[in-house]
Amino acid sequence: MSSVKERYDHVVNEVALAAQRANRNPSDVRIVAVSKTVGVDVVGEAFASGITDFGENRSEVMAPKVAAFPEANWHFIGNIQARKVRDIVGVSCLIHSVDRLHIVERIAHQAEVLGMSQDILLEVNVSGEESKSGFKPDELPAALETCSKLPSLHVCGLMTMAPQADEQVVRATFRGLRELRDRQREHDWAGNVELNELSMGMSGDYPIAVEEGATIVRVGRSIFKEDFANL
Ligand SMILES: *Cc1c(COP(=O)(O)O)cnc(C)c1O
Repeated sequence: MSSVKERYDHVVNEVALAAQRANRNPSDVRIVAVSKTVGVDVVGEAFASGITDFGENRSEVMAPKVAAFPEANWHFIGNIQARKVRDIVGVSCLIHSVDRLHIVERIAHQAEVLGMSQDILLEVNVSGEESKSGFKPDELPAALETCSKLPSLHVCGLMTMAPQADEQVVRATFRGLRELRDRQREHDWAGNVELNELSMGMSGDYPIAVEEGATIVRVGRSIFKEDFANL
């Protein structure tokens, strides 16, 4: 039996190896431990072992964990319902999954109400699969334009999910997000649009994502699932 700490250390090591292969600095990649399937007790074990960044995809599930460990960094990575925006803004250090303009505006409004600036990522559907959420690549410039006029938002970068497919397709998806980001970064945006972060890579594909420039990987099963085959 392995512990959360041992499995996390394995992920840290795999990230470092992937970074080396790409001539990148491993410290430029943040690992978000996606704790959506485990309870407060396991989060406690993880936090005690030194894990600081956690990812959740439902506000009701996140709330008791935030209450128990307010010092941790809580990332929101799930589908955002308009009526749940209030439970996510302010609580989340970074909202990864902002996927439509209506939600952009809701988040901006709530951040304004709280008198704060909310860090967000725009989710992009790079692979074009019907089942995936996110802005289409050609919708991204207009979405960024909207964000640039909402000073209560800080757009830190982009997020995507790769299809379940062979390595070439996965790699092309991650590379596609990086290229989209690079292109948009050439534009002279307002100060609240920075695009330094690329949130991409999960348990099945995070080493490829790191090779392609991920600055944040979102890893759940490899850390929290006892019998999950590690890469
Ligand atoms: C669940 C989830 C993850 C983590 O997936 P694993 O395969 O368990 O590593 C990452 N990103 C998002 C958006 C998720 O919903």
